[in-house]
Amino acid sequence: MTLLETAPAPSPAAAPTARPNLAGMTRSEIASALHDLGLPEREIRMRTNQLWHWIYFRGARDFAEMLNISKTLRATLADSFELRLPEIVEEQLSVDGTRKWLLRLAPTNPQDKGAEIECVYIPESDRGTLCVSSQVGCTLTCSFCHTGTQRLVRNLTTAEIVGQLLIARQRLGDFPDHERPRDGLVPSGEGVRAVSNIVFMGMGEPLYNLENVAPAIETMADGDGLSLSKRRITVSTSGVVPQIERLGADSGAMLAISLHAVRDDLRNELVPLNKKYPIRELLQACRDYPGASNARRITFEYVMLKGINDSPADARELVRLLKGVPAKINLIPFNPWPGAPYECSDWETIEQFSDIVFNAGYASPVRTPRGRDILAACGQLKSETEKLRARARLAASDE
Ligand code: SAH
Ligand code: SF4
Repeated sequence: MTLLETAPAPSPAAAPTARPNLAGMTRSEIASALHDLGLPEREIRMRTNQLWHWIYFRGARDFAEMLNISKTLRATLADSFELRLPEIVEEQLSVDGTRKWLLRLAPTNPQDKGAEIECVYIPESDRGTLCVSSQVGCTLTCSFCHTGTQRLVRNLTTAEIVGQLLIARQRLGDFPDHERPRDGLVPSGEGVRAVSNIVFMGMGEPLYNLENVAPAIETMADGDGLSLSKRRITVSTSGVVPQIERLGADSGAMLAISLHAVRDDLRNELVPLNKKYPIRELLQACRDYPGASNARRITFEYVMLKGINDSPADARELVRLLKGVPAKINLIPFNPWPGAPYECSDWETIEQFSDIVFNAGYASPVRTPRGRDILAACGQLKSETEKLRARARLAASDE
């Protein structure tokens, strides 16, 4: 039996006055919305497929575009449903091509002004990676992560998670017949996708919202729609052991583990969830992860904290611990934030650490920080934008 663990977070109700929003729905949700509309049962499958194609394959934003649906039905659909994506509050473009969107979610009740999340796009020569959020805030309190200093507001719905990809594809011209931005900062060429990879490394702990993350992955990977390969969808977790097995069984996505320490006493401090699920149990869950193999390795993230977890002995212990796990190791230079109790390790220390890992047979790319000029780095999302805004407000009030 699989243990279920759910976040102590309320899932939002639909906005009371809004028409049902089809953008972000799963196939069965679209089918049941059409059923509720009173469409004849024999038509529902075909209409669901048509809507699916328009929303997810072609990126339609308006029912009027759906030319293979009769005019009358298009009008009925437009009266009954919406195609609504989270609102773009701000879009920033880094000199290195990284883009960051600050998104406002639809209010969940009359008091709610609409929570905000961020979503970051990182282009490289052979791929474009979208870093999506799964929660507003986080219940966990990792001591090096800025999101960890914010309380959890709520879980994102499936539609809000898929909505981040739809927005990125809209803005990047990544649907058929849509134009790429003309800044030359988005990979282009015949058959080249702007967004080829998804990482759940934005705000939140995705395995505390698996009930919405798993259907979002299914929607993103559907071959008749957004069509991303599951091998290119990676879910990063701080180590919610009982949910790791479920992720493998339900979604087949790639797994990344935020390890960050090789001893329980230190990991208890950095990632307090370790007190509940210590390193040994976590690594066992990785060994058991369905589909893990040398061709589908698990990524282990390791943030480099000066004088804390970055000694050669730590590197050797890391290699020893990961014996028997099909692993990749991703060293992340710590992204400092104001008031953070850590510093990033020196470059030579990171290189030395990386050499030990490399000599043990692991590729150990050091993740170069991207989009620093727009504060798009891990652990800085949203909170920094909020702070900048507060600073701007303060400056304005001084005038
Ligand atoms: N909650 C999930 C996914 C979101 S965090 C998790 O913890 O895995 C995505 C990655 O960014 C994690 O590996 C996290 O440990 C790392 N991270 C958080 N704050 C960071 C910081 N200030 N500097 C570098 N990496 C950070
Ligand atoms: Fe939450 Fe991940 Fe940050 Fe830890 S590192 S506080 S789990 S977002």
